[in-house]
Amino acid sequence: MSIAIYNTLTRSVQEFTPLNEGEVRMYCCGPTVYDYFHIGNARSFVMSDVVRRYFEFRGYTVTYVMNITDIDDKIIRRGNDEGVPSSQVADRFAAAFLEDSARFGIRPASMHPRATQTMDDMIAHIQGLIDNGSAYVVDGDVYFRVGSYQEYGKLSRKNIEDLEVGARVEADTRKESPVDFALWKNAKPGEPTWDAPWGKGRPGWHIECSAMAMKYLGRTFDIHAGGNDLIFPHHENEIAQSEALTHQPFAKFWMHFGFLNIDNEKMSKSLGNFFTAREILDKYPAEVIRFYYLQTHYRSPLNFTHEGLDAAKTGLQKLQVLYDALGEAPAGSGTVDVAAHEQRFVAAMDDDFNTPAGFGALFDFARDVNTVLHAEGGLDATSRDAARDLLHRTTVEVFGVVRTESAGGGDKLLDDVMQLVIALRTEARQEKQWALSDRIRDGLKELGIVLEDSRDGTKWKLGE
Ligand code: AMP
Ligand code: ZN
Repeated sequence: MSIAIYNTLTRSVQEFTPLNEGEVRMYCCGPTVYDYFHIGNARSFVMSDVVRRYFEFRGYTVTYVMNITDIDDKIIRRGNDEGVPSSQVADRFAAAFLEDSARFGIRPASMHPRATQTMDDMIAHIQGLIDNGSAYVVDGDVYFRVGSYQEYGKLSRKNIEDLEVGARVEADTRKESPVDFALWKNAKPGEPTWDAPWGKGRPGWHIECSAMAMKYLGRTFDIHAGGNDLIFPHHENEIAQSEALTHQPFAKFWMHFGFLNIDNEKMSKSLGNFFTAREILDKYPAEVIRFYYLQTHYRSPLNFTHEGLDAAKTGLQKLQVLYDALGEAPAGSGTVDVAAHEQRFVAAMDDDFNTPAGFGALFDFARDVNTVLHAEGGLDATSRDAARDLLHRTTVEVFGVVRTESAGGGDKLLDDVMQLVIALRTEARQEKQWALSDRIRDGLKELGIVLEDSRDGTKWKLGE
């Protein structure tokens, strides 16, 4: 049995076979760091995290890249509004992104590359496109020549003629075609700029993701993910500019996450109808919010309500209580066929990451286990340990919805402060500031707080 995934590229559910056996190379579009992220963004980030974790559950090694877009119109605008350099805005919200992700139980990606640190790769990519006739320079801007790429529209199923008609209204007459898109934007006063062979300026958004994905995952990789809104133009353009350079497929599978709506309208910063992740995390445990998201299939829209979150809290309790009870239950004599339950869970999740069905299997499992556990004979040690192990691997490891223990003795303020410290240290490590990172760890140790780094990120506990 293997995992089947709905591929937006083929509009069908396809069996997943990795390019390299036992390995998954996956990219998910990350945040543009001009503000705190909202619970709509968080739905996409959590889903991507669960896809990655499920591959690991199934024995794959996953290289998972999520970019941080740290140069963009909105970041520049905010910097200008606040009278600070745009890099300061980006640094502040990149740190907040890592901190809120950690609070959400989202594992740090294998890499979180930043656009501004991938500039050489973007410039080389654009130069390659100019050299092979896929791009042209006008007044210091560089545009991708969409007409030169025969397969344009294959992801979004749009055709160039229709797009041209639609785009003509606000056409920039300097472009050869109204659908050509910017790879590089000429330097403007008050904007940060980088040197390129065709002049100073900054990259367009689409090229950032292509360059970062290819730098860390290679020219062809397994999965590219992102929210539904990114299919067009962002992902269509990523494909065009990547394949026009390499002449080989960019990503094999394209996964798109359904939107989180509110009052049946999409939650977005521009509509102003959003809750930030941190606002909601102050009110509900991360596990409850994750469970709430995962009860809906990732491709369906999810209409956000507080009542839904309250109901999730009650539902999730059953799994937490059972997990805790199994840790303490004395050995009895009854048995449960744990392996059969595991197979049902796997069958559900292999079917395009059907998390609602996966939870359905786990709740059936919990009911069976509870029946035996609370019957007179109790549960024998083998079944009890196997049951706890399965719950651990699924509800803790794959879904991140059950807690193994309360952090640091349950002091919420201390935990929040520690999440901030950990996020800042992670940031320092990503920038290879090893001395600073060690100072943070050693300083905490003197205060009796121990940091433990693992593939799940960094955890803390009160000292030894
Ligand atoms: P942004 O910071 O706006 O570029 O978005 C970061 C990620 O969140 C992208 O993958 C978006 O597609 C995704 N996203 C944005 N809004 C929502 C929403 N309301 N529901 C689900 N995903 C979203
Ligand atoms: Zn992207």
